[in-house]
Amino acid sequence: MLLIILNSMESWRFLDTGVKRAHENIALDDSLLKARSESEAKNTFRLLRYSPPAALVGFHQSIELEIRESFCRENNIDINRRITGGGAILFDESQIGWEIIASRNLEFIPKKVDALYEMISKVGIIALKNFGIKACFRPRNDIEVNGRKISGTGGTLEGDAFLFQGTLLVDFDAETMLKALRIPTEKLKDKEIDSIKDRVTCLKWELGYTPEYDEIKEALLDGFTKVFKVRVEEGELTEREKNLYRKAVREFSSEEWIYTTRRNPENRFNIYSAKKAEGGLIRLNLVVDIKSMKIHFAIISGDFFAFPKRTIFDLEARLKDHTLEIKQIEETINKFFDEYNPDIPGIEAKDFVDVFSKATEKLSLLENGFTLEDVNRIYTVAGSYDKINNAEVLLLPYCSKAKECDLRYKNDCRKCGKCSVGKAYEMAEKLNLEPITIVNYEHLEETLSSLKKKGYNAFYGSCCESFYIKHYNDFERIGLKGILVDIENTTCYDLDRVKEAHKGKFKEQTELNLKLLEKLLSKKSKE
Ligand code: SF4
Repeated sequence: MLLIILNSMESWRFLDTGVKRAHENIALDDSLLKARSESEAKNTFRLLRYSPPAALVGFHQSIELEIRESFCRENNIDINRRITGGGAILFDESQIGWEIIASRNLEFIPKKVDALYEMISKVGIIALKNFGIKACFRPRNDIEVNGRKISGTGGTLEGDAFLFQGTLLVDFDAETMLKALRIPTEKLKDKEIDSIKDRVTCLKWELGYTPEYDEIKEALLDGFTKVFKVRVEEGELTEREKNLYRKAVREFSSEEWIYTTRRNPENRFNIYSAKKAEGGLIRLNLVVDIKSMKIHFAIISGDFFAFPKRTIFDLEARLKDHTLEIKQIEETINKFFDEYNPDIPGIEAKDFVDVFSKATEKLSLLENGFTLEDVNRIYTVAGSYDKINNAEVLLLPYCSKAKECDLRYKNDCRKCGKCSVGKAYEMAEKLNLEPITIVNYEHLEETLSSLKKKGYNAFYGSCCESFYIKHYNDFERIGLKGILVDIENTTCYDLDRVKEAHKGKFKEQTELNLKLLEKLLSKKSKE
């Protein structure tokens, strides 16, 4: 059936592939893109939906780090990996995806990825306008309504073809999303620390009712034809696409696709580090061969987009069996960027060097008598371990104090023995360190800035890894050198309670890692 005819002679195919399971939708993505890159299919505009709901990681992400697998399995939520980059999403039955699979050689297709995001986003913006909703593009790849995200976009390339996709939130189940995904709270750094509901919206909330699927479909088609100015005809899969799809369905439902490509090799020593760069969070799992002091394998993951898609794998391959010398790693990364010229929006070679530098720095801890396990539980700011000495203070988080203690939100402790903070106060005083309870994030900023102003050398302290990653740039900006020890048990970040914690209102109790803290303090006091 001919749906829409515009002036252009260019004819595109329209596919509404209906409701599918995660592996089927992803297999179709891959098959359509491959066939287009082989010129075995026309340029295509596709609409898609998922059922059951699917928790999908971006191509470069790790399932283990991003998805709460047991919750998903118990609640019939498919788990899979997209062929596109970006962050983890929960694609439930109420969302509608639109995709453009086309040749990159078309005159009106922007060559730069950022410009392509903007163009694809206009499809959603016009569709929303048809419902009377004023939406706009939010760089790098979102569509927002009054500051609240209603749609995200992402894409990938294959040869001369591209696949770019957008999702439209028709209704939104914030609770299920929070439970299914390990929300990377580090991301909140770029946005307000507020509830998910304050940062996201959907058609139902904007309109007060849920439009019928056919209405939304027409609105998206209208958006597409207005932006691309082409003729659209409803079509079917080509024979080549059907053949590719038959094989792809098996591949994209396999454990190998979903897990193994990013799963850590076993029996090696792993050092972890991370950096929140402008274009997303970069996580590094450096698998180190201790005997030869070489990188056995580096696994780089995160919610960024990389074009071409294989960039990260090629960078990892370049660093396999590489020396751990950071200068040489830096040279290799810079050379890789010069030769490869990848397009990773918001991320530069330096960001990868930084994340490797943080990991290799940790090796000096081994020489200082820490165990392999300790190494991943000690973090430094504004300097390396060896250069951070003679700290005068020990900063302790209020959340480790007993829940019923009247001093929980105060900078004091009677050392009554009812929580790990009391022991840490005793430890600090024995070593002539001033213990300070940090009662909220602003207090931390003020304390560090004032210590720096007063000419203090450094601080020791304790916080969880998520807090450290999230505020790493703040620590560096303030510039007071410090060594931090990871917290022992569940933190506000794992419980999605970051907002309360930030304001000093986190109600749960965490546990200081007293053994490691004591080890650090006693070693440093002897230096
Ligand atoms: S040790 Fe200190 S912080 Fe902990 S319960 Fe006792 S007085 Fe409160």
